[in-house]
Amino acid sequence: MEQAMVIVGGGIGGMAAALAAARAGMSVRLVEQAHAFGEVGAGIQLGPNVVKVLESWGLGDALRSVAAFPERLEVRNALTAKTLGVLPLGAQALARYGAAYATVARADLHGLLLQGVQAYGVPQQLDTVLTHVEEDAQGVQLHTAQGHLLTTPLLVGADGLWSRVRQHLLPQSQPRSTGHLAFRAMVRQDALPAALRSRAVTAWLGPKFHAVQYPVCGGAWLNVVAIVQGQTEGDPTSWDHSANAAELRARLANAQAPLLDLIHAIDDWRLWPLYDRPPMTSAAQQAQGRIALLGDAAHPMRPYMAQGAGMAIEDAQQLVMSLQTQPSDVSAALAHYAQTRWRRNARVQARAIRNGEIFHLRGPLRLGRDISLKLLGQHVLDVPWLYGYQA
Ligand code: FAD
Repeated sequence: MEQAMVIVGGGIGGMAAALAAARAGMSVRLVEQAHAFGEVGAGIQLGPNVVKVLESWGLGDALRSVAAFPERLEVRNALTAKTLGVLPLGAQALARYGAAYATVARADLHGLLLQGVQAYGVPQQLDTVLTHVEEDAQGVQLHTAQGHLLTTPLLVGADGLWSRVRQHLLPQSQPRSTGHLAFRAMVRQDALPAALRSRAVTAWLGPKFHAVQYPVCGGAWLNVVAIVQGQTEGDPTSWDHSANAAELRARLANAQAPLLDLIHAIDDWRLWPLYDRPPMTSAAQQAQGRIALLGDAAHPMRPYMAQGAGMAIEDAQQLVMSLQTQPSDVSAALAHYAQTRWRRNARVQARAIRNGEIFHLRGPLRLGRDISLKLLGQHVLDVPWLYGYQA
């Protein structure tokens, strides 16, 4: 490939793909609509499958300097505060899967990918909004709102949930509202009463809501996300609506301490309306011809497996491996990429939907869920096919 591949979208997925390609000596250009690269103030969990990829890119030390490494994942009943199940992480995850389970601020993860991309001198084009795509025998043409025309032999659409690149490949399909809203906050742990500070990943299961909390920034901050059922007004493409703390407190009024105390201790909440797409059904949803989709552009998922960014990072690793196996035939390489990735992405999407249903169960089904978790604990919380994955 003489001309550079173009990656549209400099989020976690696009940045990971740019770094993977640059590391492999490929010529790559990154195009981003925003004025500056960045991420919203929230956290992200990274399973051992994802930490393994970051380590293989030489980012292990950088990750260790910003992430937290929780000792356990615990699931608790939000209405009684009773612990239902525990999955040991820490040394046990390391021994079992060959990599740690990490929790990190999104900005820190994005920042360490960006640093890698800058170290390789990858050309970046900010303030550039892709409007539409055309293809001919010469390659793929990208048209932008700023009047640029870029031509490339290989286009990677890492432009997220509302992807323009996907619209070109699959014009019929639109993201769907999940009917779930995510209230999120990040708070300094030393600003919280001692009883509310935590070094674990804790998932609180309630009827029609759940909440997840975990440390980030080496444990100095706590990330909290509460998911409730409902719709919101306003721009669905924004991840950053202002949120009403009183509304969240009313929705979780039946929760017990310490969850209820935590919700009351935080005033500054932001709101994400959650959208997804149904699980993928074919390789054509991952790549076609000279165009690949990656991350949320291909497989936006509900966050209930905590693996959306993880799958984007795995996609990035596989994309470059597939290009290396077929360096002179872009379409064949992308076909290999799509075949290798789509079933796994579909499986995680489907499991995330199911988890959301289980987390929000009501009535007798909820009781059955709690008993199963009590009896099977670690066996249902561990996911070897996911965490043990190796490309
Ligand atoms: P995005 O982050 O959406 O990036 C797309 C980029 O493309 C943006 O920079 C955007 O500006 C740019 N762009 C868009 N359109 C254009 C255009 N036309 N022209 C130029 N540029 C464009 N995942 C995990 O792995 N672990 C977790 O714990 C986790 N928790 C989550 C919790 C919540 C509440 C939510 C909502 C999601 C969570 N996820 C998690 C999922 C994860 O956030 C996403 O899967 C991930 O951020 C997707 O990254 P991306 O790069 O594919 O897309």
